[in-house]
Amino acid sequence: MSIHLPKEHFVYAMDKANAPALTVSSGEQVVVDTYDCFENQITSEHTTFDAIDWNRINPATGPIYVEDAQPGDILKVHIDDIAIGDQGVMVTGPDLGVMGHRMEEFQIKMIPVKDGQAIFNEKLSLPLNPMIGVIGVAPENEPVSCGTPDAHGGNMDTKLVTTGATLYFPVFHEGGLLSLGDLHAAMGDGEISVSGIEIDAQVKLTVDVIKGSSISYPFLKNEDGLAVLVSKEKLDDAIDTAVELMIDYLLPKTDLSVSEMTMLMSAAGEVQVSQVVDPLKTARFFVPQHVLDAYDVKIFGE
Ligand code: CA
Ligand code: ZN
Repeated sequence: MSIHLPKEHFVYAMDKANAPALTVSSGEQVVVDTYDCFENQITSEHTTFDAIDWNRINPATGPIYVEDAQPGDILKVHIDDIAIGDQGVMVTGPDLGVMGHRMEEFQIKMIPVKDGQAIFNEKLSLPLNPMIGVIGVAPENEPVSCGTPDAHGGNMDTKLVTTGATLYFPVFHEGGLLSLGDLHAAMGDGEISVSGIEIDAQVKLTVDVIKGSSISYPFLKNEDGLAVLVSKEKLDDAIDTAVELMIDYLLPKTDLSVSEMTMLMSAAGEVQVSQVVDPLKTARFFVPQHVLDAYDVKIFGE
């Protein structure tokens, strides 16, 4: 049995002071409805820049208070299913994304989703990869806008955050206070225009509290392997931190020296870029499953 959280319960910033929209027990499944990142304000390609209330961006449904989650624990979030709407939207324009300096006008493109594809134009339909752009817990200190990613998660815009993946978040405050939104029908690594194919959605997820280990940034496990997701002002710094966090995570689980582990990660690990367009940039370091299997690595004791 799962609990339903309607999209009208949302926040624009992740904040320890947010009142819970829902309280659940560890192990429970929640069905969460989400607006698109424009709070569904864009209804056609004729919607003008000024018609959009830019204070109503990136609503994240929540927060969900998970019983027994205490500071220093890990909140495990398994994405059971994502059902997306039938109308996606993309935007770009001056000062937005990597190519903003070449844009003279704000542009909207409506992208219908039909028969399991995103219809970009009459020539080209794109495969779907329904994914969650914004997902995270209440940050340790000051509130963080849902447009910004950081150690608490948030706007990580990482295409691996999709059905079947499991996220692990540091818990900074009682209950964790999980919120999510900003679903994409598809998005490429980088999110270079500043938007994925933005869309409203319904997400089914199962939350669990893990005691006895702590993390400083979100980790993600899928059938292909394990990643750590780090957001920093500079992509270089995000990459360096992600590499070091993964090496520190794996070292005690093996008999390898730092230099051997570094060589293994250089041979088999992958630096990957999640997004380069948000206030902090997000990179990930990924280790394939066969490496984890060789050392029988259990992820956070499981
Ligand atoms: Ca986003
Ligand atoms: Zn988005």
